[in-house]
Amino acid sequence: MNAELAKLLDLQSKDEALKALDERLGEVARDEQALDAQLSDAVRALDTAERSVQDASRRRDELAGKVTDYRRAQAQREQRLDLVQKPKELAAVNAEIDLARGVLIKEEGELARVDGELAGASERRTGAERTLAELRAGQATARGELAERRRTIDDERAAAAAERERSASQLDRPLRTRYDRLRKLRGTNIVVPMRNAACGACHTTIPTSRRAQLRGGLLLEGCEGCGVILYSGEAAG
Ligand SMILES: [Zn+2]
Repeated sequence: MNAELAKLLDLQSKDEALKALDERLGEVARDEQALDAQLSDAVRALDTAERSVQDASRRRDELAGKVTDYRRAQAQREQRLDLVQKPKELAAVNAEIDLARGVLIKEEGELARVDGELAGASERRTGAERTLAELRAGQATARGELAERRRTIDDERAAAAAERERSASQLDRPLRTRYDRLRKLRGTNIVVPMRNAACGACHTTIPTSRRAQLRGGLLLEGCEGCGVILYSGEAAG
């Protein structure tokens, strides 16, 4: 086999090994993202529950303040009952007390309703906290395994990258530049065998004159259709 072709094919196989490792890293990242998505759903649910609690709590405090004020005002009216003498004034204060009692009862009812809302929201928050904690605990093993997988692949990748560099350094500079440029463009299938008198990548027919060149070794001009570096499959076998 042509020496340059052997080096090119070696480099290509190293790049394919790197690509396979990158795909495995991609799978790990996708698995981690799936766990993150589960977690962020639970975090969002907890946020929503937390906001409901705060909202109900704020309304409850406002109402409780109002009810306290109303009760104090009512107590003052009741004290005034002891002070007024004239029947007309007495009747007026009694009417005020009756009116205020109605308002107070209504506000107390509202306060009881918001208390109930707050209790319900607190319960939902507790539930959401529990769900999140259970999810975190449940994911711990899976995340540990993923981290371990990532470490292993990272190590393999570092070794594969070093091997790739060693292989690339064997090539003449212009060929290496050309290969790297093609790799950037195509990602894969950079050095391709001729098949049935056509390019193995894009199936463009190779002119007879160039076929002879191919049999002699590399066709460094590359495929007219897609630019890959062609070689004769027979010569490589
Ligand atoms: Zn081609």
